[in-house]
Amino acid sequence: MDFKSKIRVVEDFPKAGISFKDITTLLADGQAYAQAIDACIKMLEGVEYDVIVGPEARGFLLGAPMSVLTKKGFVPIRKPGKLPYETIKHQYELEYGVDTLEVHKDAIKAGDRVLIVDDLLATGGTAKAACELIEKLGGEVVGLAFLMELEFLNGREKLEGYEVFSVIPFE
Ligand code: 5GP
Repeated sequence: MDFKSKIRVVEDFPKAGISFKDITTLLADGQAYAQAIDACIKMLEGVEYDVIVGPEARGFLLGAPMSVLTKKGFVPIRKPGKLPYETIKHQYELEYGVDTLEVHKDAIKAGDRVLIVDDLLATGGTAKAACELIEKLGGEVVGLAFLMELEFLNGREKLEGYEVFSVIPFE
């Protein structure tokens, strides 16, 4: 399937100069969504993981169906104040300002092999923060999987030392 033809590119969203890759058009096409999930699972053949971790919100849309199909657990990573139980936090730098992500402190057990899933790899800041959270809890990040990768932003450099996988490259 030509996944790129299913993704809508919206110029100047959320701000001028950004060419946003909108996956709502792909999600709305049941065949394309199912094949995208299958492609994500397939590219990870040979990677052994116990649990999938997905950052809010588009990480849920990819990570949760992958969890169901592979029968692995799913753990959400969220923006501050959304998770009801005790959390640990990690603050990370954005282009302008800082952001924080949280995970339930009992969501990952020491030694768990964790796969991080998100829709898109851009600068790698979100994914790196997710790795820090998992490792603070004693989990081992065995891979990071993305449906899309903006290769020109070199997110892989920030994730050096980790196994990074993506289905759709954007040059
Ligand atoms: P990074 O932290 O790698 O710079 O940005 C990746 C995060 O921002 C991901 O959680 C992703 O959902 C979101 N993101 C950034 N740019 C885009 C985009 O063009 N399309 C989509 N769907 N998500 C984006």
